[in-house]
Amino acid sequence: MNERNLLLGPIYAATGRATTPLSTSQKDAWECYFKACESGILTRMLVEQCPQCRTSERTLVAQTDRYGDRFDTVLCDGCGLIYTANPFDVESTGRFYRDYYRSLYSKEGSRLQAVERMFAVNREKAAASLRMLTYLGLRKGEDLILDIGGGAGWFLHPLMEQGYAVHGADYDAELIEIARSYGIAFTDIGDVGFAGLKDLKPKLIVLREVLEHTLDPFQQLADVNALLPMGGYLYLTVPPLDELPYGYGDGRLIGLLQNAHNFLFDTKVLQSYLHQAGFSIIACRRNLRILVQKTAVPRRSPCLIPGNAARNLALLKRCETRTQYIWRGLSKFMRVLKIPKQDQYYIKALLLRIVSSTARREHKLFLETGV
Ligand SMILES: [Zn+2]
Repeated sequence: MNERNLLLGPIYAATGRATTPLSTSQKDAWECYFKACESGILTRMLVEQCPQCRTSERTLVAQTDRYGDRFDTVLCDGCGLIYTANPFDVESTGRFYRDYYRSLYSKEGSRLQAVERMFAVNREKAAASLRMLTYLGLRKGEDLILDIGGGAGWFLHPLMEQGYAVHGADYDAELIEIARSYGIAFTDIGDVGFAGLKDLKPKLIVLREVLEHTLDPFQQLADVNALLPMGGYLYLTVPPLDELPYGYGDGRLIGLLQNAHNFLFDTKVLQSYLHQAGFSIIACRRNLRILVQKTAVPRRSPCLIPGNAARNLALLKRCETRTQYIWRGLSKFMRVLKIPKQDQYYIKALLLRIVSSTARREHKLFLETGV
């Protein structure tokens, strides 16, 4: 392993200080988590090579996340993938999600409040999801939609109400119980893993904000491939590196770093992973909302992406020294004006379409496909 130290700025050093505001319940949860790390209840392992291209040369860009948790974020010199060099080991990963994760990341004191908010957010976005199902020609009541990591069924519920056949899967027993109370069929994959889903034969699998949590993205995509028939679809979303200069995470890397995420994908690396896992792209937006189709069986083939590491490093530096100030200034301005959060999102999206031709083109794609 050959690691170059190139921290992006003072806030990326391991100072133990949070750079994001926390609610009272979150402060208590983080204190409890840090104690678990100190006492060895949660332990990390060292990843020596890039999980995608197997290159061991890399650049250290951060030693902390936005909550002040200390772990190393590196950029692979061979393909440009940004990954955690010391993620939780397998046993601690299970323990982390079971005992710590939800209370660290939910601002709401009560679980039920957080669930209600997720249902409300997804109800607002249901029109786009329904447009995607129409675009794919899914038949109501016949073609099954399977949402893996589906929480309490907030994405599936509006689709079920419109007559689509749906099934969810998650690791969280409490959320699964809520989903079932809404009449949504759910499998607890904490007990059975992906193997418990193999008889479902879905036409579309939904994998939203899940892939960045795994230890091996290729294997997870290959497991998803195995659940689909040839020609079946996957709708995938992950946090997008390429949107950082356009205001995502308030325009700087620290806004995207958190201990539950082991990867930050850019379009090229993610497309390489999808290709290796046997998928062909139907629609791919810069914000990494992606629709793909199964066209082959998976074959792991580590792939160098020339120039991508230099491009991603330049992007991170540009955000750090320039563009973050525009987006953080705008956010502060809207907060002062007390503009509601949802409206802030629409204002930013509108501004983006004014300044970026890619954003305009992709908005048209969104209106056409729902992706
Ligand atoms: Zn790599």
